Amino acid sequence: IDFDQYDKIPVEVTGEGNELFKPISTFPEFKLSAALQWNLDRCGYERPTPVQKHAIPIVVGGRDLMACAQTGSGKTCAFMVPCIEALLRSGPPAEVKGRGRPPPMPCALVLAPTRELAAQIHEESLKFAYNTGIQSRLIYGGADIREQLRELGKGTDILVATPGRLSDFIGRETVDMGLTQFLILDEADRMLDMGFEPQVREIVQYSGMGRSLEKGRKKQNMMFSATFGGTVQSMAGDFMVDYLFITVGRVGS
Ligand code: ADP
Ligand code: MG
Repeated sequence: IDFDQYDKIPVEVTGEGNELFKPISTFPEFKLSAALQWNLDRCGYERPTPVQKHAIPIVVGGRDLMACAQTGSGKTCAFMVPCIEALLRSGPPAEVKGRGRPPPMPCALVLAPTRELAAQIHEESLKFAYNTGIQSRLIYGGADIREQLRELGKGTDILVATPGRLSDFIGRETVDMGLTQFLILDEADRMLDMGFEPQVREIVQYSGMGRSLEKGRKKQNMMFSATFGGTVQSMAGDFMVDYLFITVGRVGS
């Protein structure tokens, strides 16, 4: 990552209350949990990218988020770090009642359009969750569903899935989203282009987005997309509550 180039990229944040969220310029200034900060250091994440600077305080601050940024801008860390930080702050995941017993109840659910993208996100989550006790699992189509079920049955805090396969799991009542605090739609435009709108809508409905959890916490939704066409816009309007909108421009644009 060429940070000199990155720092020239214009970023715009719009939406009610956006002025309350000051972008961070370093990770340590945000006082992340020690294990998470250590993992960022270990991965060589010295400085946040533009989307990370803005997204991390907004998500930790409890707001829904729509972010438009091109490939390679560091979107995975922008949503994964706040999710892991929230899981760490809300206490050891092992204390979540019923966790690990079937059906598994992920605290964060990430949807991605393809197996490759889901696998990349899962890998990144494993790096950030290293040594924290937070479990991340991956499910996608075209692979043995029983093996994935067995893995899920061991418990999952973060679940990364392709929409088709997760929809199968929901149909079999093998995953419970009652505790799912974060729902992330990554590469939303591509998921729509690939015809996943019905599955995405089903999953979003099933997860009860926008509803309250115990202790006054609200389910939080994030959408990431390279483009913001009509269908992505209407989904953002349907799925999210008072969301903030981050646009990361291109260098030289
Ligand atoms: P996007 O989802 O926007 O396409 P990714 O999240 O896949 O981007 O990140 C692109 C690459 O940049 C990955 O290899 C990731 O590990 C790396 N990366 C992301 N953020 C940082 C950072 N703050 N410092 C160093 N490397 C980073
Ligand atoms: Mg990505």
